[in-house]
Amino acid sequence: MADFARELAIMIDLVRAKRGGPRALARRRDARLAALVAHARTSSPFYRELYRGLPESVLLRELPPVTKPELMAHFDDWVTDPAVTRADLEAFVADRSLVGSRYRGRYFVCTSSGTTGHPGLFVHDPGAVATYRAQAVRAFGAALDAGRLPAMLRRRGRTAVVVGTGGHFAGVVWLESERRRSRGRRRAYRLISVQQPLPRLVQELNDFDPALLIGYPSALELLAAEQDAGRLHIRPVVVESSGESLGDRARLAAALGAEVHNVYAASEFSPIALDCPRGWLHVNSDWVILEPVEEDYRPTPAGQPSHTVLLTNLANRVQPLIRYDLGDSVIAKPGPCECGNPLPAIRVAGRHDDVLHLQKAGGGTVSVLPLAITAPIDDAPGVHRCQLVQSGPAELRVRLQLEPGAAGETVWQDVTAKLAGFLAGQGLANVDLVRAEEAPDQTGASGKFHQVIALKPPPGSV
Ligand SMILES: [Zn+2]
Repeated sequence: MADFARELAIMIDLVRAKRGGPRALARRRDARLAALVAHARTSSPFYRELYRGLPESVLLRELPPVTKPELMAHFDDWVTDPAVTRADLEAFVADRSLVGSRYRGRYFVCTSSGTTGHPGLFVHDPGAVATYRAQAVRAFGAALDAGRLPAMLRRRGRTAVVVGTGGHFAGVVWLESERRRSRGRRRAYRLISVQQPLPRLVQELNDFDPALLIGYPSALELLAAEQDAGRLHIRPVVVESSGESLGDRARLAAALGAEVHNVYAASEFSPIALDCPRGWLHVNSDWVILEPVEEDYRPTPAGQPSHTVLLTNLANRVQPLIRYDLGDSVIAKPGPCECGNPLPAIRVAGRHDDVLHLQKAGGGTVSVLPLAITAPIDDAPGVHRCQLVQSGPAELRVRLQLEPGAAGETVWQDVTAKLAGFLAGQGLANVDLVRAEEAPDQTGASGKFHQVIALKPPPGSV
């Protein structure tokens, strides 16, 4: 009940802030930022040291940016609750049965993929979680007009999240914690693994018949193709695409017969932004600050793609993120958005991995989601970074960057065994895995790392 009261209070404030326009939003943002910086200075030894010598009252842009490797290296000094330690948290996330349960009875914990070279471990306090939930309701409320609400209720709000499973990833943790909260409606939430073969995934969705379908754009695009082909026949009311930039929204909406929304989310804060009818993402700027910047952290002018973006989470106290290098390339919209939403608008670029279309031994192709194929090797020991590049209809080059001191041959054997096991499960035991001599490559205009790169144009007709 306390949680509910807190969320309701935040929700009322969210409505007031948005109604008050840019000035009301800025007032809240500035007050929350001042409180966060003061808290970080008193309660986080890492920030106390970092901000030493800075005057008491500073502007956001005067604070030094921080990076994930830097914060992870000082983890125990970064967090503001001395009872939270990296060693203890690593033991917690190593236990898969604890996904969605609260660490130390109160903290929401999630990890971000290690395959990009920089694994992250994120702890969110109850106040932050209440803020995220309230904002998810604001986002979801915008997607449900009067015509769609009854349809949603008729289907008992059945929610399917199609994601990579097997770890404490944000989407999985969120769904599991919702299930644990709502005892009576546990069966209304279904986690559907993208690692399973596509026909089984399709069958599971057909059986469950979700009213709300949430997934990565690459997974949703594949499901739209399955729906067009007549194998998938679901009738979602709302489809929420999350985690990467959304491609062809109109095509998804037509194939799945649903209202399609794009949510910009991260393990560090969720939801950062929700899209509008004009195709822009509106940032929840009363609770999260985004600064598009160049490589040297100077501000990127509006209208131009940034090198990266600095995120400041105004809701979470236990693990302060202040001017944190998130790694995404974003474009800030110059001037107000035509849709009338006063929240600042952005677009996100360069967060897209490719769907692989691999040829089977007996002919035909199998579509493999990027998240599904990288999941088995995400926590492979000795791997700093891994990149899969399709080099033929049934051939993948595996580019590995090892951790310092790792034994190359042992790591290679382990990675290929894991990949081969996954591929065999998809009916793709014939696919050749080639050990690449070259290191993983930073590709794409934004310089954002791509884990999976497909052969272009894709072979076959899918
Ligand atoms: Zn807009």
